[in-house]
Amino acid sequence: MSTLKEILYKELELKISTQVDGINFDPYVFKTLDLGGKYQEEMYGCFEHAYETHVGLKFPTGFRSPHGFIYNLRWDRRSSYSLIHEKGTYYLTHHGEVLFPVEFLERPEYYSLKTSDGTRMSTLARYNQDGAIGIVYSNECALKEKDQDCKFCNINATKDTYGETEGMGWKNPKQIGEAVAAAYSEGARTLTLTGGFVAERREVEYYLDVADSIKEHTGLNDFNGTATIGAPHDLSVVDKYKEAGFRTIATNIEIWDRNIFKAICPGKDLQCGGWDHWVKTLEYEVEVFGRGRVRSIIVAGIEPKESTLEGIEYLASKGVLCFASSWNPNPGSALEGHRSPEPAWHFDLLKKSAAIYRKYGYTHDQIYDCYATTSVVNYIYQIEDETLPVFTAKVA
Ligand code: SF4
Repeated sequence: MSTLKEILYKELELKISTQVDGINFDPYVFKTLDLGGKYQEEMYGCFEHAYETHVGLKFPTGFRSPHGFIYNLRWDRRSSYSLIHEKGTYYLTHHGEVLFPVEFLERPEYYSLKTSDGTRMSTLARYNQDGAIGIVYSNECALKEKDQDCKFCNINATKDTYGETEGMGWKNPKQIGEAVAAAYSEGARTLTLTGGFVAERREVEYYLDVADSIKEHTGLNDFNGTATIGAPHDLSVVDKYKEAGFRTIATNIEIWDRNIFKAICPGKDLQCGGWDHWVKTLEYEVEVFGRGRVRSIIVAGIEPKESTLEGIEYLASKGVLCFASSWNPNPGSALEGHRSPEPAWHFDLLKKSAAIYRKYGYTHDQIYDCYATTSVVNYIYQIEDETLPVFTAKVA
């Protein structure tokens, strides 16, 4: 069994390597693939993750590895990993050596549907696989107007690049309610609602209207939703999200070192009462939503690893699941052209994060609900607990 675990860890490490280093391919290699038919095409949420933009050229959103891990397809022509197409089959290669044949992710049926006002549901509720959907209510961030947007973030640049062709813009609650109902009737079971900062912090009323619409269209009181919010000055606002029916809440601190936070996230620092208030907000959210029902994210690779781990451990001890999201310097962000640490650096950080969650008793389900899709940490739990389908198959 240990050999199987070693194989699975190698496959997981490869997932992280192809995420951090990207994958090289001819941008026209998918011209014979049934993309937008059988296979799921990428939809832009907040960010373009590829190393360079590609207006007018759609790529698949990702694929599964031989043991079922989801690999995202992040285009980077400089990568030593490649996707090639030979005799009707796509393969992942490394330095020209075939690693495995690739089966792209299947497209959900609701991607072909439209709302009652004619909006494509694929632009409203992005399917993250494994029953999770992501809704980006607005593809812009008001911090840009003040020149205070986060240095790693390209949300506004992504909208400027793809906005017209991708129908990016404000989504109204009715559209979202209809799209969520369609996705849930097809098996989706969790969602995250997110977007950039809204001018004058008017997002709370909007979130409440969205929650009402989702409840009305799905018929569910508990729709297992995560509301992603910036730290509000008035903490009693947090209670309103809970009353509205969100099961979990997310407040992304991005950087644990308070001085680096100030430099990298000037708007989050200046507009929300500073780093201390972000931490205080997360602790208050646990009081309202409960232990293991509050999420935060640190963009991993900007500050030293010890600092990130200190943040993850501190927050875990307070009831917050803080995830280390591997930093990809994105096109259009202030840090475009920088480099993320080596994949091994990220893998080590993720394994240590999983050990911290274990130490504080968090379960696989809490992590899934909080992260709103299957995270690398979930995969680590599944390998360690031998709950991946491959273990069952082996016993049977
Ligand atoms: S708050 Fe920061 S990370 Fe979030 S959308 Fe605005 S600039 Fe991007």
